[in-house]
Amino acid sequence: MQATLEIRPQEAQINAGLLARDEEARPVIELEQVHKIYTMGDVEVHALRGISLTIREGEFVAIMGTSGSGKSTMMNIIGCLDHPTKGRYVLDGEDVSEMSKDERADIRSQKLGFVFQGFNLLSRTSALENVELPMLYAGVDAAERHSRSMEALRSVGLSGREHNHPNQLSGGQQQRVAIARSLVNRPALILADEPTGNLDSRTSIEVMEIFQKLNRERGITLVLVTHEHDIAEYADRVVVFKDGRIKEDYRIENPRDASEELRLLPDVEQDED
Ligand code: ADP
Ligand code: MG
Repeated sequence: MQATLEIRPQEAQINAGLLARDEEARPVIELEQVHKIYTMGDVEVHALRGISLTIREGEFVAIMGTSGSGKSTMMNIIGCLDHPTKGRYVLDGEDVSEMSKDERADIRSQKLGFVFQGFNLLSRTSALENVELPMLYAGVDAAERHSRSMEALRSVGLSGREHNHPNQLSGGQQQRVAIARSLVNRPALILADEPTGNLDSRTSIEVMEIFQKLNRERGITLVLVTHEHDIAEYADRVVVFKDGRIKEDYRIENPRDASEELRLLPDVEQDED
């Protein structure tokens, strides 16, 4: 099934585009000389060796690099799941480098949305309830939870599937539920770790179409880890890791356009039930 997303006014699209390129846009992520050293017994693994990186509001950044280069370590720090051994991390204006575990959990629920390779949905729970879950933790009342979830599912093209359980949804649909779930607390930033890793190529483009629309039409800041070059080409900036350092950081002037590509693909069988 192809996602039917609401097209917002052209103006919003232009603003989001400008914002991403505007050097003055507000920084959402500021990493300064971040190091991470894992200690296992008397062995030290220096996973990050001085990462400095600024990501501004409205950017869509792909993180690439070979296995072991430090991508997940950095995503864990950006996602407030872990803290740097040394260096500073400011998320949406707040210094989180020295925060306690509990404080980081609060920040996570307020400011961040997560999308994972394996979808990470609760299996005995409907799409709607999966999407409501982060709001339950954030203390949003029931009526508001319901209406925001319905709206988020609609925005990813899943109206009519609210009561399906994950095993009644295709992989692409499950990932769209996960994207809807990442949106409902209105995060400053969405982090996606290999979100198309378990999907076939057409479904991957459908998922990238949703990310591009969220970024371009709503100005949502996105950081996405992938080892696939053709997926990174949907972003407008690529940061390449090597041995715990940033090896390259460049802009893509003409990113691939997922909507356009889907329009040109031959039709497939309509949605499975
Ligand atoms: P990537 O995601 O790019 O594959 P990682 O961030 O997972 O890289 O790993 C970077 C380095 O840190 C690797 O050498 C890895 O073995 C090591 N590492 C990652 N997590 C841990 C951990 N929890 N304990 C010890 N070493 C780790
Ligand atoms: Mg990894």
